[in-house]
Amino acid sequence: DGLSKHYPIGTSFFGRRDQVIRAVDGVSLDIYERETFALVGESGCGKTTLGRVMLRLLDRTAGTVRYRGQDLHALNDSAMRAMRKKLQIVFQDPFASLNPRMRIKDILAEPLRTHRFGTEAQIEERCGELLDMVGLRRTLLRRYPHQFSGGQRQRIGIARALANSPEFVVCDEAVSALDVSIQAQVLNLLRDLQEQLKLTYLFITHDLSVVRQFADRVGVMFLGRMVEVGTTEEIFSNPRHPYTMFLISAVPRADPHQRNREKPLLVGDIPSPMNLPTGCRFQTRCPYAQAICRTEEPALSDRGGRPVACHFPLGL
Ligand code: SF4
Repeated sequence: DGLSKHYPIGTSFFGRRDQVIRAVDGVSLDIYERETFALVGESGCGKTTLGRVMLRLLDRTAGTVRYRGQDLHALNDSAMRAMRKKLQIVFQDPFASLNPRMRIKDILAEPLRTHRFGTEAQIEERCGELLDMVGLRRTLLRRYPHQFSGGQRQRIGIARALANSPEFVVCDEAVSALDVSIQAQVLNLLRDLQEQLKLTYLFITHDLSVVRQFADRVGVMFLGRMVEVGTTEEIFSNPRHPYTMFLISAVPRADPHQRNREKPLLVGDIPSPMNLPTGCRFQTRCPYAQAICRTEEPALSDRGGRPVACHFPLGL
C-alpha cells in the first residue's frame, strides 16, 4: 500500500545526497491466495525492486506491505525470521544464484538448518524429497552446481525456495535466462508445484508471451508506477493504458496473417528516473497526450472496472 523505494544518489557541493532515483514510487496492489500475479514492464521500471521490498529483502522508503494482515516491515528480527519460511524467492540467474563450492545437498540443507528443520538425517531425507519434487534424481545430491545444465540448476533454485514449505514465492525473471524449450518445462513444473503445494506466485518478467500462458492477473509498471492492473485476458485483449497497448503489440505472434500488419511502435525517450516530468510519466512517448497530461499525473483509479493510470484510457 503506497509502497516506495527511493535511492539517494549524487553529491552536492556540501556533501549532501541531493538527488533520488524513484525506483518504486507509490505502488499499491493486492495479490490473492493461490493466484499467479505477473508484474511486467521494461528493464528499470522497478518491478524487481518492488518484489524485493515486498519480501523485505530491501527496506522501503514509504508505504506498507501486509502479508495476511501483518505489516512485514514492522516485524522485529525474530518474527521476520519466522515469516521468511512462508515468503521465498527464485532468482533469475541459475548460474549465479547457486554457490559453486557447495554440493547440492548443502545448498538445499542451508535454509532447513537455518529454520531448525530437524536432525541431520531428517534434513537429508527432506533434501532428497525436494529433488524428487522438482524432477531430479536423489542420487544427484552429492554433485556440484557446475555439473548441471541451466534448466537443472533452475530446478535446484526452485527446490531451495521450497525447502521450508513457503506459501508465497516471488519468481524474479525465473525463466528468462533459459532456452525456450527449457522455459516451457520449468513453467510446467512451477504450475504443477503451485497446484500441489497451494502456492501463490508473484511472477516478475519482461516477457509477455510467458505471462500470457502463465499468469492469472497482470500489473503493468512504468518508471516506478503501476499504470494498469487486470486479468490476463483483459490486459491482452483490451489494454486500456497506451503503454500496455504498446507492450502487447510488441509480442511476436505465430500467425502468418498478422505478419504484415503494421505494429504501433514506441517512440520518444524514457524520462530520466532522477528528473521525472510533471504530469504523466509516459507523456514523452504517448501519441495520445494532451495538455492535461503535461500538468496532472493520472492516479491509478477505476476506469471501466479496472485500475488504469491514464487521463484518456483506450476503449472507453
Ligand atoms: Fe498518454 Fe496522457 Fe494517458 Fe499519459 S495520461 S498515457 S500521456 S493519454
